[in-house]
Amino acid sequence: MKAGNGKNQCKLCLKEAELQKSHVIPDAFLRKIKRSGQALTLKNNHSSHFKRTNLGKDFGAYEYLLCRNCEGLLSKEYEKYSLEFLRGRYKVEDHKGYLIYHGFDFERFYLFALSILWRASIASSPQWQGVTFPEGLIKVIGTCIKSKNLKLSASQSLDNFFKICLVKVTDKESLVRLTIDEMIIPFGRSQGNDVKDGVVYYFMAEGFLFLYYFKVENDIHVAFKERYQGQLRKRSLIKIPKINYDVVEEIHYCLQSIALAVQSD
Ligand SMILES: [Zn+2]
Repeated sequence: MKAGNGKNQCKLCLKEAELQKSHVIPDAFLRKIKRSGQALTLKNNHSSHFKRTNLGKDFGAYEYLLCRNCEGLLSKEYEKYSLEFLRGRYKVEDHKGYLIYHGFDFERFYLFALSILWRASIASSPQWQGVTFPEGLIKVIGTCIKSKNLKLSASQSLDNFFKICLVKVTDKESLVRLTIDEMIIPFGRSQGNDVKDGVVYYFMAEGFLFLYYFKVENDIHVAFKERYQGQLRKRSLIKIPKINYDVVEEIHYCLQSIALAVQSD
């Protein structure tokens, strides 16, 4: 695509500017992983395409997407708070089966989570080809990120269309020697039997599975709602379910294949 020198259109503010190196996966997630020396990549939704790779190859990848102001906006307005939140900056209660996180700022965290998916949708690297949205939707999400506001109209809000759930993935038998907290599983996608079922994108970092349920209709899919209790809501504290990796269908096969690979090392 384009080189870094010269002016190009920033994908967020749409102004012509010198574009910065943008990581699709926030750099703060990557820095933590770098300590373990390896990254985990998922080529597509099939477990056989899952592999461990040395860092710097896929995960070090960046693209020229945003201008300096917009990079700053994402990092100051969304990433700083959200990373601190996930890492236990505020009070965290550990209960059987779930965690209660205090100090939750819904709009900020929601837009942080969605901005990662949004960056994947506008990035051109083949790594992100599974994440595609219509141009109009990319613009709508961009407008919400820029304005720090989820409202689309008097009656509609972005979170009517994208439900985001957060699940804490655990490994109670310690099968996976590379700890779950130090893994990143980039975007995968699962789809219902029917278009009307919607699409679920998922992404894992720091031991949290982010699930993005995208559906054009207003009602959330009942089965999904039943399965994932950790839907982000406008509350000052949120309940995050703890789920052992082997029961999370979306990541079960990936993690199982790591467990097998580790055992056969
Ligand atoms: Zn910009």
